[in-house]
Amino acid sequence: MAPSPFDLSGKVAVVTGGNGGIGLGMARGLAAAGAAVAIAGRNAAKSQAAAAALVSEGGRAIALTADVTSRADTAQMVKDTVAAFGRLDILVNNAGINIRTPPQSVPVEDWQKVIDTNLTSALLCAQAVYPAMQSAGGGKIINIGSMLSIFGASFAPAYAASKGGIVQFTRSLACAWAPDNIQANAVLPGWIDTELTQAARRQVDGLHGRVLARTPAGRWGVPGDLSGVAVFLASNASDFVTGTAIPVDGGYSVSG
Ligand code: NDP
Repeated sequence: MAPSPFDLSGKVAVVTGGNGGIGLGMARGLAAAGAAVAIAGRNAAKSQAAAAALVSEGGRAIALTADVTSRADTAQMVKDTVAAFGRLDILVNNAGINIRTPPQSVPVEDWQKVIDTNLTSALLCAQAVYPAMQSAGGGKIINIGSMLSIFGASFAPAYAASKGGIVQFTRSLACAWAPDNIQANAVLPGWIDTELTQAARRQVDGLHGRVLARTPAGRWGVPGDLSGVAVFLASNASDFVTGTAIPVDGGYSVSG
């Protein structure tokens, strides 16, 4: 039988913000499909615990400490991954934050912090991995957007701007690096139960019920809901898929 097009044996991935929430859900999928995974985040203890969990489940994983807003840290993250596993094939730009303030009062420092963490980081990490992907003969870049890549939100203008930007950045990467056999795609998660959205539920009145009412699947997502799309976009199964933005949202974005 031909090998599965979803097999990631021999491939190496870096997942930024992979120490919890959606990032860990994706890292878990990649590891289960055979990839060696470097988990990168600022909180070293949390990253080590996540990597240890993947190893205890039979995967190959290491923890790296990196702030994705720092060019030096992202360069070191790639260097350490290649030193540990010998190559780099897959980048998941997942690290992200939200600071919820309406546009009339958002301090420019907060705006900048959200844009730096959610959008500029994707450029820094992509630039850092590019030579390693060229050496590997190709690569896969998965950028994490949001429903706010599509919709506006009165309480999150900086976040929405960063996530809209992620989709356009993804399309540009796809066009630019196709000759290098690098595919770049975005994933747009719906409302997923993580630390980020637990904070949102505390801060935004009625959010929990509104999400349930609009999501045809009738539930919030869980990090494991993102595992499959990560494997697809990281594997040969998606070799002719590039520049797209795939909602993983239980139908939220198609519900009127
Ligand atoms: P979490 O808050 O659970 O995870 C965020 C991750 O980002 C953490 O691992 C954190 O690690 C990391 N991170 C934040 N800032 C930095 C930084 N400067 N450098 C390195 N790592 C950083 O949130 P989610 O899992 O919910 O979110 C993950 C991604 O998914 C984000 O991009 C978010 O915008 C997006 N998303 C989430 C949705 C949801 O419903 N949950 C919906 C749509 C999109 P550490 O603190 O250790 O640095």
